[in-house]
Amino acid sequence: MRVAIIGAGFGGLCMAIRLERAGIGSYTVYEKAGGVGGTWRDNSYPGAGCDIPSHLYSYSFEKYASWTRRYPEQPEILAYLDMCADKYRVRPKIRLNTEVVSAAFDGRRWQVTTGEGTEEFDVVVSSVGQLNRPSYPEISGIESFAGVAFHSARWNHDHDLTGRRVAVIGNGSSAAQFIPRIQPLVEHLDVFQRTPNWVIPKPDSAFGPAATLAFRLVPGLQRAYREWIYRYAEGTLYPALAQGWSAGMLRKRALGHLHAQVADSELRARLTPDFPVGCKRVVIDSAFYPALTRPNVDVVTDPIARITAKGVETAEGVREADTIIYATGFRSTEFLRPIAFTGLGGRSLAEQWKDGAEAYLGITVPNFPNLFLLYGPNTNLGHNSIVFMIECQVRHVMACLPYLERNGPMEVRPEAMAAWRGQLAAAMERMVWNNGCQSWYKTAEGRVTNNWPGPTTLYRRLTALPPLPAYRITSSA
Ligand code: NAP
Repeated sequence: MRVAIIGAGFGGLCMAIRLERAGIGSYTVYEKAGGVGGTWRDNSYPGAGCDIPSHLYSYSFEKYASWTRRYPEQPEILAYLDMCADKYRVRPKIRLNTEVVSAAFDGRRWQVTTGEGTEEFDVVVSSVGQLNRPSYPEISGIESFAGVAFHSARWNHDHDLTGRRVAVIGNGSSAAQFIPRIQPLVEHLDVFQRTPNWVIPKPDSAFGPAATLAFRLVPGLQRAYREWIYRYAEGTLYPALAQGWSAGMLRKRALGHLHAQVADSELRARLTPDFPVGCKRVVIDSAFYPALTRPNVDVVTDPIARITAKGVETAEGVREADTIIYATGFRSTEFLRPIAFTGLGGRSLAEQWKDGAEAYLGITVPNFPNLFLLYGPNTNLGHNSIVFMIECQVRHVMACLPYLERNGPMEVRPEAMAAWRGQLAAAMERMVWNNGCQSWYKTAEGRVTNNWPGPTTLYRRLTALPPLPAYRITSSA
């Protein structure tokens, strides 16, 4: 059985490791970039890090005692993934700088095409992430800017920001992390905020030598710590997103954080969202607000009219800049694009998903036999570790492999997909994401295609079920 894995980030590496450990060595990992790591390779902006503690945001099978702090930064997370690729001996099967352009199911097998040609596989596992393609805003005049411009996920490390006049467009989690790092360097910083975000503190701290030694030597300590973080996220943060008992508490915490860090009431008012906490991704950061209060920073809330050669124009005039940083997020609802997937009867996945991406358990898609998605539609979280979800998905794929190896290509039944769609829609009703905001969690039409609306404990249970009877053997095979 030959397996193609697309992407060598947290998901793709996890899939490769599981296959390797199961003795299935006939897989290839295609990676379009020059290294492993996915989002942790792409996002190298100053201050990049994860706001889920790494003792949880890591593989359950590769607990790591050497995290230097509770919330390590990007270089440490990338080093962890590099270490895993070597330790589990999957690196020789990774083809770097090889972008998959299309994958077509011919009735029995998948024909996977890259710039180097076409290869045949029994199974395709797509692990391309939800946040891998930068989104540039549709603002007129963008091309006319005479200075240096780049996206936060494509940071220009050759461009020294010291003494510059910088415009940052966007104020999400990425902007909140790099603004405090660049503010001390630049002469002036304009932060263009379209919508304020809720911000809660990040209780970060370094692990001293004693803690590191304890993690290394005390049996069960890492597991217990990981479990504690998981339970806190599940027991306290999830109910807030489900508009339950902790929603008010989270709002109070965010407002308290704002009051504690921003003394100027006029600025505070501009930074206060008018939608419930969690509707958009909550920013978890303790350095963002203080940076916004510095004398060389302006938070600009006048809508952007256009970009000119000299800077960013609002109704108040042009704010001159020699550098523009787009912290404008990702094309998050365009799952799997631009890879052209073709399924049974020549069906195009882009066409099938024209009203929004969907997949059974977020993993399998009707008409696309033997195609599995990791971190697919409706599996993103606003409160817990995506690595947990990825491990559930990989386990599900591993459970399906013996069936399809024995019986031939298998696909999810349309009835199972329809029932799943109904369950998702019902669960979605209690969630906060449709409550008065626009976000990267949903399509322009307002359908939440990215987030998982239940507790992760439920997702683990559902993905652990034996894969049949939601699946059937593909009749055309
Ligand atoms: P994002 O949350 O999608 O934020 C994009 C920002 O750009 C928003 O403030 C948005 O404003 C603004 N924007 C977009 N188009 C605009 C336009 N035409 N004019 C003006 N403003 C515009 O993107 P992100 O900050 O890169 O974060 C994406 C996700 O990645 C996060 O939500 C999080 O899940 C993950 N992430 C996590 C961490 C972490 O762990 N700390 C760090 C970085 C990223 P509106 O709000 O008005 O749309």
